[in-house]
Amino acid sequence: MTSKIKEFPGVGLRESDFAAKKVLFTEWKPNAQYAWDAGVAIGRYLAELKEGRIIGVRCNRCRRTVVPPRIFCEWCFHPMDEWVYLEDHGIVNTFSICHVRWDMERAEQPLIPAVIEIAGASKGMGILHLLGEVEPEKVKIGMKVKAVWKPAAERSGAITDIKYFKPVE
Ligand SMILES: [Zn+2]
Repeated sequence: MTSKIKEFPGVGLRESDFAAKKVLFTEWKPNAQYAWDAGVAIGRYLAELKEGRIIGVRCNRCRRTVVPPRIFCEWCFHPMDEWVYLEDHGIVNTFSICHVRWDMERAEQPLIPAVIEIAGASKGMGILHLLGEVEPEKVKIGMKVKAVWKPAAERSGAITDIKYFKPVE
C-alpha cells in the first residue's frame, strides 16, 4: 500500500487550475428547485439579526436562556416560555486560528472563528462567529467582544449580518 502511495503521490488542485483548464473536468448545473423554511425559532432569530438585534429564548423551568433560539428546551423537553433580547456583546468561550480557507487555499490573513458567549444568555450559551480587528496572538478566552454589524441596508437576515466580533476596549 505504501509503495503505491509513493508511486502515485497525487497532485493538489486549486480553483485556479480549473479556471485555467489545466485539468480534465466536466461541468453540470443541476436544475434543483426547492424551498427551505428556517422554522419559527431560527426564522425569528434571523429576522431580528436583520434589525440589528440578537434574540434568544428562555425556559423558566430550567431557568435557562439560550441562543440561538429553539422552540423547545432540550433539557426538559417543554416548549420554551419567552423570547429574550440579548446584548450584542459577550466573551470568547473558545477560538481557533485558521490559516487555510474553506477551499483549502492559504488565507492571506488568518481567520479566527470563535464561540462567543452572548451577554444575557446563560453561561456557556453562545454562537459561532469570527473575530476581527484583533491580532491572533492577542485573542484570549474570556476576552470581551462586541458585534460589528453590517449597515442596516446591507443586512439580509443572516448570521453574516454581523461582520465579526471585535474586542471591547
Ligand atoms: Zn427546560
